[in-house]
Amino acid sequence: MAWHLGKVAVEQNIMNPKASELLGQPTSALHSRDEASRMKLIDVHVHIVGNGTGGTGCWLRPSLIRWPLQAFMARHIGLPVSALKGDLDRLYVEKLLQAVRESSLDAVVILAQEQVYDTQGRLMKDRGTAYVPNSYVLKLVSQHPEFLAGVSIHPARVDALDELEFCLAGGAALMKCLPNCQNIDCRDRRFTRFWERMAEAGLPLLAHTGGEHTLEVVQPELADPRTLEWPLQCGVTVIAAHSGTKSGLFDPQYFHHFSEMTRKHPRLYGDISAFNVPIRGAVVPRCLEFPLIERMIHGSDYPVPVFGHWAWLQGFVDWKSFRQCEQIPSVLERDYQLKRAMGFPPETFSRITRLLRTPSAM
Ligand SMILES: [Zn+2]
Repeated sequence: MAWHLGKVAVEQNIMNPKASELLGQPTSALHSRDEASRMKLIDVHVHIVGNGTGGTGCWLRPSLIRWPLQAFMARHIGLPVSALKGDLDRLYVEKLLQAVRESSLDAVVILAQEQVYDTQGRLMKDRGTAYVPNSYVLKLVSQHPEFLAGVSIHPARVDALDELEFCLAGGAALMKCLPNCQNIDCRDRRFTRFWERMAEAGLPLLAHTGGEHTLEVVQPELADPRTLEWPLQCGVTVIAAHSGTKSGLFDPQYFHHFSEMTRKHPRLYGDISAFNVPIRGAVVPRCLEFPLIERMIHGSDYPVPVFGHWAWLQGFVDWKSFRQCEQIPSVLERDYQLKRAMGFPPETFSRITRLLRTPSAM
């Protein structure tokens, strides 16, 4: 059934007034905002990045290995490489707001980035690639209606429950963590109260699954979506970021484990973030199959680059759609249009609206 929805969406090549205006083209394979006008379209996976200028509290650890990738990502979203060492925090938010406003999206969930802690809840100061405090994300959300708050808390922190209450009071919409990079073993029974409080508050968990090559990995085995069983059993709605897909050639592939888990856990979803890079997107045809399609949620993983070449080479999008998408200046809109062209139905982009915590649930 839902597969057909996808097929219909592909066949209805309706002009997107916003995007085609940008392209100056009268006919288009791009998808109209009107066809989903009654639904809010949200990108659940958008990173905030900063180096602390302006007193944001962010940091970005310089690394010889990651520098070329960070520079490439900066250029991809339209920032000069010099911004990485300059007024990055302000420039990054300006570019992001522009990308949202030039897109079909109503809002994006912006993500804080927790630091690395050991199993006893002690800060591991020398580990981790980036930090974005919850207070900064909550402040940005209060200033811009295009943003929703994705906070980030290590449950082993001695003040984890206090930080959770602070974030709930500040309007948190979801909690994001990267178990493999932040050293969070979600199966640890000491975290039970933390998961139960999230479930009570209706705060969903967006947890990284699958390989990771942009950030330092501390515990590779925690990329396995099966480590998310315990929060699910505690009643938390869980979104497996990247749906367990591999990112590098030699990463383990966890997609089939994620897919199997959705049959057992009605509260488990997967996001399709970073599917427009070479390897992750290979599972697109399986994501479009019923019943898995009903668990898929849109995310871009901005500022991760968006290239339609891979989808076109694998036959997921046709030449015309690929060429038109390549000309879209907003990286967020390009990612959205490529995924529509692949066959993801409007529901994939709006499903998150009923899963996010709303302030009334406080
Ligand atoms: Zn991400």
